[in-house]
Amino acid sequence: MFFWHERRAGIDLAVTDRHGGVSAAPFAGFNLARHVGDQPGDVEVNRARLAGELDLAAERLVFMNQCHGASVEVVDGPWRGDPPACDAVITAATDLALVVLVADCVPVLLADPVAGIIGAVHAGRPGLVANVVGAALDAMADLGARTPFAVVGPSVCGRCYEVPEAMREVAAAVEPTSATVSWAGTPAIDVGAGVVAQLAGRGVPVTWVPGCTREDDRLFSYRRTTPTGRFAGVIRRYAASAASRGGGGGAAYLVDEPSHAEGEGV
Ligand SMILES: [Zn+2]
Repeated sequence: MFFWHERRAGIDLAVTDRHGGVSAAPFAGFNLARHVGDQPGDVEVNRARLAGELDLAAERLVFMNQCHGASVEVVDGPWRGDPPACDAVITAATDLALVVLVADCVPVLLADPVAGIIGAVHAGRPGLVANVVGAALDAMADLGARTPFAVVGPSVCGRCYEVPEAMREVAAAVEPTSATVSWAGTPAIDVGAGVVAQLAGRGVPVTWVPGCTREDDRLFSYRRTTPTGRFAGVIRRYAASAASRGGGGGAAYLVDEPSHAEGEGV
């Protein structure tokens, strides 16, 4: 179920993998996205399993209607109705799991344990260009966050993300670090590196979880297989009582398997 999982200062941070779900091929098995063509009942079973693993009710998982933009939503509980179009969601609430779905795009988890603010961000190539992580950090600061840290999950790597030269130029104009070359030596973009550079530019310490979605079949990859499922970045802050019991940066969970989830257009 988890490719990577840590608890720091009463905050759970996780990246799911493809294992432990009921979805059939090509979504096998732990697909968490409804919009990819998977059986809706299977997706709900998978989501319920994720919630159960986090010891939460399924409605405490907060998904987004991701659209490759830079809109940020602030939530204090589950959506009333369908999620709005946004690519970042932040909250000061506890025991609410914010979820970003990816299959090659970059999942980013943000947390300020002192201020008690967390966020989840979907950053693909358009999100890199639009600086969605900067927008999310601004919104967290508006809520009082001062010293956030970030976890950047696995995504398609620069070697595996060949693009037209003009597209690389657009990304490089925003974040030069993102410009690279593919395995074939052709123009490519390293979206993860660009997002990490954007975070570093804001003084945010980053934990970058290693892994290329296209090369590691423990994760879903839109570029390796289409259609495919989506894996998730998940973040949740525990209520104080739980944090004092299990928080403080301990290894409450150790995970060593990957999975994947969203990925249109990286
Ligand atoms: Zn790769």
